[in-house]
Amino acid sequence: MKFNPFLEDIKVYEAGKPIELVVREFGVKPEEVVKLASNENPLGTNPAVAKVICAHADKAHLYPDDSMYELKASLSEKYAVDETEIIIGAGSDQILEFLSRAKLREGASVLMSQVTFAMYEIYAKQVGAKVLRTPSYEHRVDEFVEMMEAHHPDIVYLCTPNNPTGDAISKKDVMEIIDAADPDTLVVIDGAYMEYAAAKDPQYLIEPKDILQYDNVIYLGTFSKAYGLGGMRVGYGIANKEIIQGLYKMRPPFNISTLSLAAAIEASRDEVFLEKSIALHQEQILRYEAFAQEYGIETIDSYTNFITYLFGDTRDASKVADALLRKGVIVRNLASYGLNAIRITVGTQAQNDRFFALFSEELT
Ligand code: PMP
Repeated sequence: MKFNPFLEDIKVYEAGKPIELVVREFGVKPEEVVKLASNENPLGTNPAVAKVICAHADKAHLYPDDSMYELKASLSEKYAVDETEIIIGAGSDQILEFLSRAKLREGASVLMSQVTFAMYEIYAKQVGAKVLRTPSYEHRVDEFVEMMEAHHPDIVYLCTPNNPTGDAISKKDVMEIIDAADPDTLVVIDGAYMEYAAAKDPQYLIEPKDILQYDNVIYLGTFSKAYGLGGMRVGYGIANKEIIQGLYKMRPPFNISTLSLAAAIEASRDEVFLEKSIALHQEQILRYEAFAQEYGIETIDSYTNFITYLFGDTRDASKVADALLRKGVIVRNLASYGLNAIRITVGTQAQNDRFFALFSEELT
């Protein structure tokens, strides 16, 4: 079968390993597996949302409200934007796909940080666009501005906070990059983890309303992380309405499910769960920083719900990740990103206890 030849240059996205794999391959009991690999919310499903999902179980035969009126109304209130400035996707991933297909074609180019979310590259390559990366693994304004001036990319991705490193860009620096962009360069602010950055340092908070006056900037958010709905697949894009109208041309009808829509509406109204998630995270990440310091492991200052342990030439991240996996702890090995590092999603107190206990066995 001959596919689009651009696909030959694409490496398939490797998702975090599932619990079932560890049970199957290493005989660990399911209740003993600790999954800290996919940046999911360790608090689990918000009980109020779970109730709404159950209440909608007998609506599975119906397509969802394709206008997504209630969800847009809720987001519009939350972010002080107009409903015409919002598009909903099956995860923010689907919005990334829409905007890549809307903006790119063969010979176009996209600019991103050296180490960042893998889907930006995959979507660009699918349509034959060129991928440009800044030299540093953390976002640096001077590098972005310089490369934008040299290459005039069609899309610039600012992943803030950044997955998988955890670094972030301050609002001031984001604005500097936006101001340096050509009018026809689409600047994408991927705020999948923004709630964590905002709680850590308000200077890092970028809100959708900050970018609406620009004709070439879009903000992306998701219910997958701080809202705990990764399995429901709901994300959103917010931008001025001309951009949103363009993206609507890419959207299939009913692009999120009836249950996902109901879940996201409920989650968007529940600030208490969000605050609990952030509070747990802020308390527990301190333990990861202290652990790293105790064992002389270098970290990247994290603005997200995970932390990156850098090993330099002290140990091999692939071996560490593999040894932990055999003990039932799933973390993300960043070797495929060119970093000798592991990324650990900050879990509950008990999950983190288990990680520290098992990892310290490896270290001593
Ligand atoms: N952007 C970033 C930076 C991410 O890390 C992720 C998920 N890992 C996404 C977007 C996509 O998230 P979702 O599709 O679940 O909204």
